[in-house]
Amino acid sequence: MNKSSYLDINRFISDRIFSIIADSAYESGVEAYVIGGYVRDCLLGRDYEKRDIDIVVDGSGIELAIKVARRISPGIKITVYKNFGTAMFRTKGHIIEFVGARKESYSSNSRKPVVENGTLEDDQNRRDFTINALAISLNRNSYGKLIDPFNGIKDLDKRIIRTPLEPGKTFSDDPLRMLRAIRFACQLEFDIHPATFKSIKNNAERISIVSYERITIELNKILLSNKPSEGFRLLYESSLLKIILPEVYNLKGVEMIEKHGHKDNFEHTLQVVDNISIKSDSLWLRWAALLHDIAKPKTKKYIEGTGWTFHGHEYVGSRMVPGIFKRLKLPMDDRMRYVQKLVALHLRPIILSQESVTDSAVRRLLFDAGDDIDDLMMLCEADITSKNEKKVKQHLRNFSIVRQKLTEIEEKDHVRNFQPPIDGNKIIQMFDLKPGRQVGYLKESIKEAILDGIIPNDHEAAMDYLIKKAAEIGLKPVDK
Ligand code: ATP
Ligand code: MG
Repeated sequence: MNKSSYLDINRFISDRIFSIIADSAYESGVEAYVIGGYVRDCLLGRDYEKRDIDIVVDGSGIELAIKVARRISPGIKITVYKNFGTAMFRTKGHIIEFVGARKESYSSNSRKPVVENGTLEDDQNRRDFTINALAISLNRNSYGKLIDPFNGIKDLDKRIIRTPLEPGKTFSDDPLRMLRAIRFACQLEFDIHPATFKSIKNNAERISIVSYERITIELNKILLSNKPSEGFRLLYESSLLKIILPEVYNLKGVEMIEKHGHKDNFEHTLQVVDNISIKSDSLWLRWAALLHDIAKPKTKKYIEGTGWTFHGHEYVGSRMVPGIFKRLKLPMDDRMRYVQKLVALHLRPIILSQESVTDSAVRRLLFDAGDDIDDLMMLCEADITSKNEKKVKQHLRNFSIVRQKLTEIEEKDHVRNFQPPIDGNKIIQMFDLKPGRQVGYLKESIKEAILDGIIPNDHEAAMDYLIKKAAEIGLKPVDK
């Protein structure tokens, strides 16, 4: 590190917040450093303006945080985690977290560390990767100095993920770091150093002592990166995937019978996930892509004359989603149901586009997909991974016909958020019924007639139809 890059580094700590931290630390007689992701991303020139900033203090992180926050504005809300010796607050779009420098050692069968106060050096020793151990001094006599004991700068330059200590030690202290190595490699588009990767392979089994809450955070970050496939291939190669997501691991492979092979569903799935462009809110769509063919191994059959079939894999797959979400500690709410629905419906637009597209089939698809119809179409387009360009073009052309039809029919019939034109209470009143099977039958008949295009989606037509249907089962409207 020469003088000129020293100056360069000063620009990463030019914000007023850093001088406030520096002054406060000086007054308290403690040392403070910016460390970890902020330093790494600054040096990489990766969006760092709004990211979280980690400060490590040779002393009490909590006391310094309180002092700094008061100086910025007395009203700032500080969150303190006494047990971890950390405190954080928000300012100008950043989350700033303070932690006392620590020395840690872990027992072999849990990840609960025995924590002692330590020096900056101790703290850097317990960091996960060389590129995450970089620190910038905020102290008077060395303000802006980069402290890089493991040559993280060189690894940044060569784009390498490597543990600071012997990898076996780093990984056995906290096995989650194996997954983090893959997450960072995928997110930053780095390679994992061979000795580090070898150690991940050797220690993969130990991931089983890590909670799914922590594992899932990393999986989500892989899914939200530019090319999740890179991460999943590393997870596969390291055997971590087999332990944490065996259902996806089982997609791998091609079986041959009488010279007929099917496609490798693991590779196919990864392409589909990559094909879903990353928008800020596309995490669940990417989960749907990852799981869309999850039941292919379970439903696989070879039928002579036909070849490989995966009959019903969309329904069997959608039924597997809750179990997977539960185990991974993913949310069991609307987000899970969204993934389940997309998995269940993922073949519908393809089937539609292959047959002549009838209005009633389009209406049924709109009704079943509701507001998720656009996401479903995105998933289906991503699902076209054929290498045959002609085939791809043909599929895309068919899809654009389906899309056009969807728009037309929705404008005409409004079935996307279907509200029955006559509700159950009205039916009860009209025919003086008790709530029960007959009411359900009549309601369902109206819905079906609308979806099939027998009647338009309006009140008057529904009323006429209702009276006719009721007469068929011997009911007449009562005069009121
Ligand atoms: P991101 O942009 O994803 O937040 P980050 O580097 O800030 O990247 P965090 O998970 O927020 O990642 O962790 C902050 C820092 O804390 C890391 O840079 C690393 O130095 C350290 N760290 C976090 N988790 C671990 C761990 N399990 N083992 C060792 N060090 C860790
Ligand atoms: Mg962070």
